[in-house]
Amino acid sequence: MPIYEYGCPTCGHKFEKLQSMSASGADCPNCEQPARRAISVFAAVSKGDGFASDMADLGGAPMPMPMGGGCGGACGCGH
Ligand SMILES: [Zn+2]
Repeated sequence: MPIYEYGCPTCGHKFEKLQSMSASGADCPNCEQPARRAISVFAAVSKGDGFASDMADLGGAPMPMPMGGGCGGACGCGH
């Protein structure tokens, strides 16, 4: 069940609510007016906020070869 983030347009209060995807909305716990759904936590994760940017930081550099025990035979040098 996803967690939704809500922002209240009436008082500006932000809160998160765990609810089913079929739920229509939530009321602000502060002023009890209908709040607007901002983003779901799941949606934020699926954008690759962490993993994808980590990969981008490599700048297209080749992956480091596994170390320890020579070349592993990949280069054909016999080690
Ligand atoms: Zn409110």
